[in-house]
Amino acid sequence: MLKGLMMDTPLAISALIKHADRHHGDAQIVSRRVEGDIHRCTYRDLHRRARQMANALGTLGVQTSERVATLAWNGYRHMELYFAVSGSGAVLHTINPRLHPEQIAWIVNHAEDKVLCFDITFLPIIEAIAAHCGTVKTWVAMIDKDRMPPSKVSLTCYEDLINANSDRYEWPEFDENLASSLCYTSGTTGNPKGVLYSHRSTLLHTYAAALPDALNMSARDAILPVVPMFHVNAWGLPYVAAMTGAKVVFPGAALDGKSLHDLFEAERVTVSAGVPTVWQGLLTYMEANHLKFSTMNRTVIGGSACPPAMLRLFQEKYGVNVLHAWGMTEMSPLGTACTLKNKHLDLSPEQRLAVQYKQGRVIFGVDMKIVGDDGGDLPWDGKAFGDLLVRGPWVLRKYFKEENVDPLRDGWFPTGDVSTIDPDGYMQITDRSKDVIKSGGEWISSIDIENVAVSHPAVAMAACISARHPKWDERPLLVVVRKPNAQVTKEELLKHYEGKIAKWQIPDDVVFVDSIPLGATGKMLKNRLREQFKDYRLPSA
Ligand code: ADP
Repeated sequence: MLKGLMMDTPLAISALIKHADRHHGDAQIVSRRVEGDIHRCTYRDLHRRARQMANALGTLGVQTSERVATLAWNGYRHMELYFAVSGSGAVLHTINPRLHPEQIAWIVNHAEDKVLCFDITFLPIIEAIAAHCGTVKTWVAMIDKDRMPPSKVSLTCYEDLINANSDRYEWPEFDENLASSLCYTSGTTGNPKGVLYSHRSTLLHTYAAALPDALNMSARDAILPVVPMFHVNAWGLPYVAAMTGAKVVFPGAALDGKSLHDLFEAERVTVSAGVPTVWQGLLTYMEANHLKFSTMNRTVIGGSACPPAMLRLFQEKYGVNVLHAWGMTEMSPLGTACTLKNKHLDLSPEQRLAVQYKQGRVIFGVDMKIVGDDGGDLPWDGKAFGDLLVRGPWVLRKYFKEENVDPLRDGWFPTGDVSTIDPDGYMQITDRSKDVIKSGGEWISSIDIENVAVSHPAVAMAACISARHPKWDERPLLVVVRKPNAQVTKEELLKHYEGKIAKWQIPDDVVFVDSIPLGATGKMLKNRLREQFKDYRLPSA
């Protein structure tokens, strides 16, 4: 074998911040803080403080591969920890504060976090869990000395840690397969599972995510990640931003329509990313106040299916190109992104939209296939649907602390999603396998039913779940939240389906509710709804 003769430089997260400092040192990181103000710094400042924090972690006794947790909003301190913790060889464990405190304590104990850094908003959670989290030696409040909250838990001040430590720090070199960060799945069934990323997987994901046919990020962008940094590393955006040198705008805790729109405008944001439920709030606010975007030109929508009506509204009314993307925690998270090919450029606007509704093509590095019940490959004809399997260098191989269980199927990771793939390689999610409605042996996509519902002007949110039926086993039941002051009856809504989907797929009944329960990452909790409506008697039953 003739080996290549190129340098064997290990891929390391610290290289990202070094690069951003060296080549984009004056690019800005803007944060709306828990202090209530807008904070500005640069990549140079952020790198300096990350080095100070890396020294501080050393003084706290954090060793290579030990876990340092965060419970924090999107902001510059959180980003400093992204680089200080992973860059120094420890593991950054980002925790979702929207989980129940008991679940947070379970995760902290499972991860054996040694240090936990939190925004003071979350002090009540810390006070609820501290006594049950024996592995945590230091609780760090991410604030300055003057604003340290009184607490029965002994707290360390983040800014004191920074100030007390020198910025002289050389990022260590290590094997690129060293664990860098840890993220738990939402765990809608059973306990959450830990997904342990490495420096290598993170860097490869970052290169791929930045590509023009993926997230398409550059030094000319101002990125506002609405997707939280506790949700699969904000889909990798802090790393992508550092790699490209883009300006970053962090929204902190204010994710309502007005706060977001104000920030988009004031900071001349060009691109954003988030789940459909967040955009729903923003669009409702903008419509009510007749607002436009002056610089925003595109947004990434993923986490759950982007309703076609939302995609159309963004593009046609607001001039914001929508990038529909699909992925999961186990995939770092990016798997597919929906961008057009050269051959699509001559399509009519309607035909282009039909392509854009899909979850998209794999980004290079990810391999995907769909299989039937017998495990055999299904054709890529845009019609056959089956279990979606993936593999690649940023796809999970084993869950953390479950190394004796093989979650793969012949080396492929089963995503739990059901999808089609068309001849051009565009994947479209039909459903989460547990959400699909099995009506008399035929499958009905709950996503399709919901998309039609939210295209009705009076509907704010809709979830389609299965209800028991004596003849068909399951039939679709539509649960709907109306827009404020909007009126629509069950009959009108069902009529809205005519001609849009096959007759037998039209829901059997509609119930109007005040709200639909959302999970910790902003997705509709359909298992909660199924539980709530488990004894529901359909009029057709
Ligand atoms: P994330 O929400 O970041 O994608 P999770 O691991 O919490 O990560 O959830 C992954 C699941 O979310 C996927 O398996 C899929 O069911 C759903 N999902 C993600 N993106 C989309 C999308 N664009 N369309 C439909 N479902 C999606």
